[in-house]
Amino acid sequence: MQFSKRKVLKNINLTVEEGSVTAIVGPSGSGKTTLLRTLNLLQTPSEGSVEVAGVQVEANKLNKAVTRQIRAQSTMVFQQFNLFKNLTALENVMSPLIYNKVATFDEAKAQALKVLRDFDLEKIADQYPVTLSGGQQQRVSIARAIVSKPKVVLFDEPTSALDPEMVSGVLNAIAKLAKQHITMVIVTHEIEFARQIADQAIFVEDGEILAQGPANEILSSTGSGRIADFVNSLE
Ligand code: ATP
Repeated sequence: MQFSKRKVLKNINLTVEEGSVTAIVGPSGSGKTTLLRTLNLLQTPSEGSVEVAGVQVEANKLNKAVTRQIRAQSTMVFQQFNLFKNLTALENVMSPLIYNKVATFDEAKAQALKVLRDFDLEKIADQYPVTLSGGQQQRVSIARAIVSKPKVVLFDEPTSALDPEMVSGVLNAIAKLAKQHITMVIVTHEIEFARQIADQAIFVEDGEILAQGPANEILSSTGSGRIADFVNSLE
């Protein structure tokens, strides 16, 4: 993966098991977000291949149809929530079902209300994003990401734009999804959280995967070396 002539990701070889949680950690600017966005082709890889839920594409054979197919397998939760400001929380959560024509209005409403209820957001269903706290907005955006039951949910630093007191509510919502064995890939600086919920952790530095393995081993704060130093610097 490169921007202009500069290679941002190199030698990436990553497999995510169905039903597992993968945490991507590493220093600022190391390429975590770029790696995540490459998984659903929001960034176009310059070489190699990407396969999601059986749909595979080679970098040199990308086209609109296959990009659409890959994107249909996953949804993304962004740092800045990215809710539609002119829609209520409920309408935001209904929107993928309506937009993709996979449900009638009444079905979409029922499904969206169920997901909002699961996240304890039913009471703010009719409110617009501007009236919600950052934590509520992010939980609405997670509800919107899962309502259509995607194969994979990608999270790009989902708590880093939140006030500290809002972080745990959002992490709890993600942990709830982990219990349902929804396949998730999460870029995060929340090391303790990643240790608790992730099966696999990936440490990225200078665009390469420096280490990959069980989260509680990779993210251990004991010992010496680059990763332990990084983990200790965040804790
Ligand atoms: P952070 O933790 O600060 O969000 P990151 O690990 O997610 O960082 P990326 O955002 O993936 O890092 O960026 C990796 C490198 O690619 C950085 O050097 C960044 O400046 C560069 N980069 C990212 N997006 C672009 C872009 N659109 N055009 C050019 N360079 C970019």
